[in-house]
Amino acid sequence: MRLILIINAGSSSVKCALMTIDAQGSVQECARGQVDGIGRDAEFSMRFTDGHKDVKEVMSSGTKTSHKEALGLILKTVDDIYGLNALVGAGHRIVHGGPNFIKPTILDAAAIAELKKLIPLAPLHQPHNLAAIESLRELLPELPQIGCFDTAFHATIPDIARNFALPKALTEKGIRRYGFHGISYHYIAEAFAARDKERARGRVIVAHLGNGASLCGMINGQSVATTMGFSALDGLMMGTRTGSLDPAVIFYLMREEKLGPEAVEKLLYNQSGLLGVSGLSNDMRTLRKVAAENADARLALSMFTYRVIREIGSIAAALNGLDALIFTAGIGENDSQLRADVITGLSHLGLALNESANSKRDYQISSSTHPAAFVIPTNEEALIARATLSLLPHL
Ligand code: ADP
Repeated sequence: MRLILIINAGSSSVKCALMTIDAQGSVQECARGQVDGIGRDAEFSMRFTDGHKDVKEVMSSGTKTSHKEALGLILKTVDDIYGLNALVGAGHRIVHGGPNFIKPTILDAAAIAELKKLIPLAPLHQPHNLAAIESLRELLPELPQIGCFDTAFHATIPDIARNFALPKALTEKGIRRYGFHGISYHYIAEAFAARDKERARGRVIVAHLGNGASLCGMINGQSVATTMGFSALDGLMMGTRTGSLDPAVIFYLMREEKLGPEAVEKLLYNQSGLLGVSGLSNDMRTLRKVAAENADARLALSMFTYRVIREIGSIAAALNGLDALIFTAGIGENDSQLRADVITGLSHLGLALNESANSKRDYQISSSTHPAAFVIPTNEEALIARATLSLLPHL
């Protein structure tokens, strides 16, 4: 058996997946797990889809679990069940590749040093990605590690859509749009082309709507516009993030409300969006449940929907039309009400809803065929596994 370990490391959790490689070289998920509560008493759970028993462990109280301990737990489980020799490589989801990492990359010492220089571009995420890479290097120095970047898919965005209207010297310093969710967009672009080659050559908007949410406009499967910008804070309203916000609000908060940069950052990233507006929850399911009797929850849901519709209109204008709209990620795949409201709100583009297909979550959910709307579940782990496999020299 040959296995690839996929790692997605955040500040408080490390998510992992194990993918088997079959004789034809295609990958199949055999387990998925996560360590939660890093920095506190952590909990580890791993669910196997290949007949092995699930694992659940709680670290003894009083220990502050580090990324290295989290990876140690994951490796111990892999060792117990499959033997560590089965591992042929590890693929990491890395949030920021900066201007230069625009393809999956072997994570040797030089690459890691370059990625560290990008920490100021993604201070809330990049250090955790790097902590996982370095921990795994210490635990299994011989294991090839490959990085996939959430920014990389957007390397094809032209300057007109990438640059901010800032002085050129600042643009040249890298203050520009990078875009995120690129691993998901790349997966969707390939999956869509595999099903509908002709349409995938055209003007496609993918709506990745999860806790983090963004849109990507593609032509011929390449990103030409996206709603996230310099950071993952821009664009759509999200679970706890504002999305686009008049920057003058920030100066006002600093001057009049006496908030420092960290407090503003926390407000915009963690206390806003669906959570901030509803005062209740960042979870769509919770808000849907209480919407009938809670006006704040209703407003949060309406604002979220409105912003998706408005930004799709903006990207459709940038693409000069629309051939396909694709919904993906937690909300895009599961919230049929949101999809219905968005499609109905875009009737001016020629989209029309197929109610029964939408409520059953069929592949095509529009009665209109041009443009048409689809649901495609994303699978970032599969894309990372394929990229990792392609860079493993001995396979
Ligand atoms: P992340 O960005 O953390 O990967 P996900 O893609 O898992 O996020 O999406 C999380 C979001 O998906 C949450 O807002 C959650 O409420 C929503 N979601 C998950 N399942 C459903 C469902 N059945 N109906 C509506 N929303 C759902």
